[in-house]
Amino acid sequence: MKNNNGKDSVTRFIFELCQVRGEVASLSNSISDALATKEYPHSLAVLVGQALTAAALLADTIKIDGSLILQLQGDGMVDALVAQATDKGELRGLVHWNDRYLPDASFTELMGKGRLVMTVDGEDKQRYQGVVEISGESLAKCIEAYFLQSEQLATRLWLACDGHQAGGLLLQQMPESKSLTNDWHHLVTLANTINEHELVELGPNDVVHRLFHQEELRIFEPNNVSFQCSCSRKKIENVLIQLDKAELDGIVEQDGQVNVDCEFCNLSYRFDSVDISSLFLANTDTPSRTQ
Ligand SMILES: [Zn+2]
Repeated sequence: MKNNNGKDSVTRFIFELCQVRGEVASLSNSISDALATKEYPHSLAVLVGQALTAAALLADTIKIDGSLILQLQGDGMVDALVAQATDKGELRGLVHWNDRYLPDASFTELMGKGRLVMTVDGEDKQRYQGVVEISGESLAKCIEAYFLQSEQLATRLWLACDGHQAGGLLLQQMPESKSLTNDWHHLVTLANTINEHELVELGPNDVVHRLFHQEELRIFEPNNVSFQCSCSRKKIENVLIQLDKAELDGIVEQDGQVNVDCEFCNLSYRFDSVDISSLFLANTDTPSRTQ
């Protein structure tokens, strides 16, 4: 069994001498909770687990209050893969698949042709978005290509998930470093010796020690991560109010209420005729509504 130290955390480390930074993630409950919201076939549970791990690793590298959203949309067996991580360590994600899905399909067959969109959403509403075509034989390779094309940053990712828990490792050239050095290739060679089983089973300190015990590095305090959905009644109201009131009244007349289920966490929000009326009444009173 995986030791409990550092479960559901992301830990940053830097190699003091060669302008390379790293992140290691060890995720257990956060993954099983996120996967419990739907009945995923195994290969898609693995894919969502890897995407959540990647989002957790990447969110920890950016110094911003807000969230990082990883989205892949293609024309393969998967329509959309989404993973979100906030600066507070809140993770959520999901995958939509279609009836062409085959259990033994490769990443390329699952995704088909499409695009990877990386969004950084600041709390102060500043938004950064990068888009690349989906490429590579794995999600990790696809994200590595994003960083090379979109940010010109050499990045290597190792992602592993067994359908219940996950582990991940990231190495990235510091933005200020000019060119790739022999040190970079040396560190990547070391990291390549870890296998998926070790990545999932070992705690973060054990992964770093196993790979880099001969290197001079500084390890930071781990940041805790958990499955947490940011949906709220207020956010659903803000969506409903953009719709046609007559249409909503029609649904209430037919079903007795409007039901909105959050796809990320399965929470149900219900609005009866009084809720709908007061929503639109409140909106007429205060045209400049807040989030
Ligand atoms: Zn939710």
